[in-house]
Amino acid sequence: MKYISSRGEASGLSFDDVLLAGLARDGGLFVPQSWPRFSKDDIRALEGLSYADVAARVMAPYLGGCMDGDDFAAMTAETYKDFDHPDVAPLKKLDEKGDLWLMELFHGPTLAFKDYALQLVGRLFDHVLKKRGQRLTIVGATSGDTGSAAIEACRDRDSLEVFILHPKGRVSDVQRRQMTCVASANIHNLAVEGNFDDCQNMVKALFNDEVFRDRYNLGAVNSINWARIMAQIAYYFVAAAKVGAARGGVTPVSFAVPTGNFGNIFAGYAAREMGLEINRLVIGSNRNDILYRFIQTGKMETSAVRPTLSPSMDIQISSNFERLLFDLLGRDGAKVTALMKQFAETGRFEVEKEPLNALRALFTGYRFGDQETKAEIKAVYEETGALLDPHSAVGAAAAKAALKKEGGAPMIALATAHPAKFPDAVEEAAGIRPGLPPHLADLLEREERFDDLPNDLDAIRGYISGKLA
Ligand SMILES: *Cc1c(COP(=O)(O)O)cnc(C)c1O
Repeated sequence: MKYISSRGEASGLSFDDVLLAGLARDGGLFVPQSWPRFSKDDIRALEGLSYADVAARVMAPYLGGCMDGDDFAAMTAETYKDFDHPDVAPLKKLDEKGDLWLMELFHGPTLAFKDYALQLVGRLFDHVLKKRGQRLTIVGATSGDTGSAAIEACRDRDSLEVFILHPKGRVSDVQRRQMTCVASANIHNLAVEGNFDDCQNMVKALFNDEVFRDRYNLGAVNSINWARIMAQIAYYFVAAAKVGAARGGVTPVSFAVPTGNFGNIFAGYAAREMGLEINRLVIGSNRNDILYRFIQTGKMETSAVRPTLSPSMDIQISSNFERLLFDLLGRDGAKVTALMKQFAETGRFEVEKEPLNALRALFTGYRFGDQETKAEIKAVYEETGALLDPHSAVGAAAAKAALKKEGGAPMIALATAHPAKFPDAVEEAAGIRPGLPPHLADLLEREERFDDLPNDLDAIRGYISGKLA
């Protein structure tokens, strides 16, 4: 398997190369040269396997000789063994009939779905860097959950130095402390006076600065890194196999995904390209509804980022959408480049009827304000006893809206964070305060370490150079 850039200027890269590079040199995102296909028999053979074994099989075609199959299966087993549920990603029925399901993706060390990919990516980095005798400087921006998941995945690994930018005062206390209370010497937290898009834009600018990038061997853990998408494909297969088994055989399923940067739901798209029978992919948005509007109008148009109860989705630029756009435009890198250039310059672009119809044939979108999100938390708690965090509630509300309007059962809503990451919102909505699991019980008493930085690229560059001098 080789990789190409969504902007057409890079091709023939190996998995190791795209893992370490993150972003392509032409500013594009890496995608597989072609999608590997699983037959119906291959998919049926996944039923009854452990999460780690499904993950190893689903990802194997993407590794392209980076690693021996048995070594990789050992790595996935090691990765998921400490998750705090025996199923790793357990499924719950949310109704009697089995039309609506919830997949819990918050059983990793930092309680958000990002652990499912990053715990593996940290190990892959270490493996490839040791093989090459190299070190890597991870630079990432976080709207809350990526940072802690990346830090937890990379802490104390001697091949990695980690710099995470978060928007100061815009992540929850629990989210911040999960980053700043990690005492490892290779971890650096930067609290930036700005919003998430400012942080993400500065990270992108550092990657586009070739001198800086080469000097410090920069690597990305944001969901622009292909390896993260790859690792997330696994749970779509796991979910479909389990729901299929519960309903007496393999059956097409739909997924509803609370969406920000479009990484998670793009993994669902990848699963479908690989042959998994997926009816619909339903985008759940909060008030930052750029994707919802795009599906309605065919116009991608940024507006101001508004803070909501689901901060990890407070985003106006869904970076991973470029990967889908590449496929929708017939894998024409020049067309993608033109649209992305226009988007960077004007904050908007528009697609033609044909790609828009192709998008609408698979994706639908729903958006919910904070009041609706809280109402959903309350409703699900009262109906099923399950406590949802605000992100997961947006996903569940989107799942129900889609079932009602479009059908498409069975529908699986992805629960992307543990309710205890957002205790205030959950308590306000459901009337009970979710507690942190035992390994994080003393989080609010631990000592924090971070540095304040202005919203200024040169200041960030100088800070990183200073630490690495
Ligand atoms: C990151 C995150 C999202 C958004 O996922 P994308 O892959 O960026 O679309 C949703 N919910 C939670 C809890 C998250 O941490």
